[in-house]
Amino acid sequence: YPILIGGNFSKGELQRFGNIELNPSAGVLNYGQGLFEGLKAYRKEDGNILLFRPEENALRMRQGAERMCMPAPTVDQFVEAVKETVLANKRWVPPPGKGSLYIRPLLMGSGAVLGLAPAPEYTFLIYVSPVGNYFKEGVAPINLIVEHELHRATPGGTGGVKTIGNYAAVLKAQSAAKAKGYSDVLYLDCVHKKYLEEVSSCNIFVVKGNVISTPAIKGTILPGITRKSIIDVARSQGFQVEERFVPVDELLDADEVFCTGTAVVVSPVGSITYKGKRVPYGVDGFGAVAQQLYSVLTRLQMGLIDDKMNWTVELS
Ligand code: PMP
Repeated sequence: YPILIGGNFSKGELQRFGNIELNPSAGVLNYGQGLFEGLKAYRKEDGNILLFRPEENALRMRQGAERMCMPAPTVDQFVEAVKETVLANKRWVPPPGKGSLYIRPLLMGSGAVLGLAPAPEYTFLIYVSPVGNYFKEGVAPINLIVEHELHRATPGGTGGVKTIGNYAAVLKAQSAAKAKGYSDVLYLDCVHKKYLEEVSSCNIFVVKGNVISTPAIKGTILPGITRKSIIDVARSQGFQVEERFVPVDELLDADEVFCTGTAVVVSPVGSITYKGKRVPYGVDGFGAVAQQLYSVLTRLQMGLIDDKMNWTVELS
């Protein structure tokens, strides 16, 4: 798959997918100065391709770059680069209903730096890959375990931006959970150790009656673009949505729980194991609210319903 690489963000160059060269003392290799994004392109029945809110990814990368002391592409440069890469890889966008093209923009300190400091040069690149479902369960419910010891983010840290180190921080808990048969880990805040944060790669929502609650954005969770979109979709469907501190105990009497993210879309949670106790949700794990929101969001992303919010960008 051709990838787009740009040294100065102005005009990148499409190259064949392959290894890239990096200086051994590149900022990204030594001091973790790297950010990434993730978005998807879906093919419509008429053959055209839809991107979902790519300017939101551009803005999030810009916020992350500010935190990581890096310059970043402008929103226009980012969106144009995504479009160009997707169009160059058009044949890899799966047919309607058969998956999507996952798009991975990266921004890194590629310049050499020995003493701790921001790198003197940066590289922005985009690569893509066709994908199916994220969890091996497919669209079936996932099983989470609440993590008590390890945390992915601290107040004042970098948990609120999509920097590479956040993912290194979750590898240990995530691999241990997977080895025990869980799909993923649900993290708690590291100060009180009782408020829900997020899962390794997605945001979490807890449903009780007509009220849907999700942890507020306060610097330690990633402001998911799917999260933000689902909040709007849920409100438009008549649900009351609360962004607040959600104590872990609320999991015990929730009607259903679901996760949101670009990769996972809307994934129903079949059970959460908390302090050794497994709490099941929904009928066979499938929650009605998650199904309803999944259906609206995916039909919007695939161009099957009217895009009243103007969230999609069509490429032909
Ligand atoms: N939290 C984390 C830690 C993530 O990696 C992701 C995936 N980007 C999300 C939440 C969901 O964000 P989005 O909906 O923008 O994909």
